Amino acid sequence: MDAMEKAKNIITSGKFVRAVLWIAGLVAAFAVVVVLWSVLRGRPSSVNADFVTESVVDDKTTVINVAAGDTLSKILSENGIGGKDINSIANVLKTKAGITGLRADKDKIEIVRDGGPETPITKIVVLPGSWRRVELTCDDAGVWNCNAIDIERDTRLVYRQGEILDGDSFYLAGMRAGIPAGILADVYDLLAFEMDFERDVRAGQKFSVLYEENYHDNVKVDNGAVSVVSFDALRGNVKMYRFKKSDKSVGYYDPNGNGAIKSLKRTPINNAKVTSSFSTRRKHPVLGFTRAHKGVDFRAPTGTPIPSAGAGRVVARGYNRGHGNFVRIRHNSSFETLYAHMSKFAKNVKVGTAVKQGQIIGYSGSTGLSTGPHLHYEIIKDGKHVNPMTVKLPAIDNLDAANKKKFLEYRVTLDRAIESLEQNPKGFIQM
Ligand SMILES: [Zn+2]
Repeated sequence: MDAMEKAKNIITSGKFVRAVLWIAGLVAAFAVVVVLWSVLRGRPSSVNADFVTESVVDDKTTVINVAAGDTLSKILSENGIGGKDINSIANVLKTKAGITGLRADKDKIEIVRDGGPETPITKIVVLPGSWRRVELTCDDAGVWNCNAIDIERDTRLVYRQGEILDGDSFYLAGMRAGIPAGILADVYDLLAFEMDFERDVRAGQKFSVLYEENYHDNVKVDNGAVSVVSFDALRGNVKMYRFKKSDKSVGYYDPNGNGAIKSLKRTPINNAKVTSSFSTRRKHPVLGFTRAHKGVDFRAPTGTPIPSAGAGRVVARGYNRGHGNFVRIRHNSSFETLYAHMSKFAKNVKVGTAVKQGQIIGYSGSTGLSTGPHLHYEIIKDGKHVNPMTVKLPAIDNLDAANKKKFLEYRVTLDRAIESLEQNPKGFIQM
């Protein structure tokens, strides 16, 4: 809102100006609501949400933002391109640029007519994400050719630190620290392996994030990955570093080089409040008598997507009186997880389905013995229920000796970057 305040000071009078500022304020407020909403739902948000699917940059170029349900042939035929050309374009995109489909909300297409509107198309540009341009032109013989260009990216590391204040959530403190919504969503994803956001968050705790910003021609285009995240949790400092191994695969590791990405998440839904903890004895809210609570309850309005805590295979999907609609997943020879009280199951998730970590398996609800919509989550280890918040979980990936040595050196570099940015919080480090 700083820019708005400045604008208000510079431009002083006039009903028109006031009306424009008022409308700008409304648009900004709407954008904030959209961003908040998408973060609270735990999605990596597209901050620059484009509500317009088609726009004209100049009188030669029309830009189409690929939306859900769009296909290459649909977009091209809507722009007057015939079936034969569409096939030829699809073919050259596949063989020369490795593009077989368009991704909604990510990819763009530019239609260029050098002669101006209503003249024949001279060039079609496919923009898969922000960092690649695939230009398609048709030669005199009517053959489409393509030229893929990688856009030069200048990556900068920036650093934000914050502190939890009284009555804060980590989310509010993160926004106040200036951490962008999408980065904050990634941070939640990482910390969910180690933290219980309900019981581990206290006033006075400090946290920090070192992350990438990508620039082109000195203009910021998007945010990249989280490089380092640190949080002073109750059980001690949780710190994770992003590291690329010699085989080019990327992972997150603790300061000693142990894998930080665990086989299971303690908190499957990001930013969900714990409403009831694991205990061997508690008074059951519906049955009234004392009975063990074999899982953890997370507040989740009906319809909240439930991601699988880890990769595995669905071994049960059904209904029983206690759990209501539930899904049980086997992750390896010792671990299983169970998700209860679902309002509905995800399509294509059936007994036998292989699921990835984070894949949506169903939606929260209040079926079975339940007093209100929530997710009841259980971890079963070697056939016994264990406390999801304290059980020791195996890492997915640990470093071998050679990579560990490289990691420890790289960690020193990142620690130095953090030290220097702590002194100069508005600065950045060029990668
Ligand atoms: Zn429960």
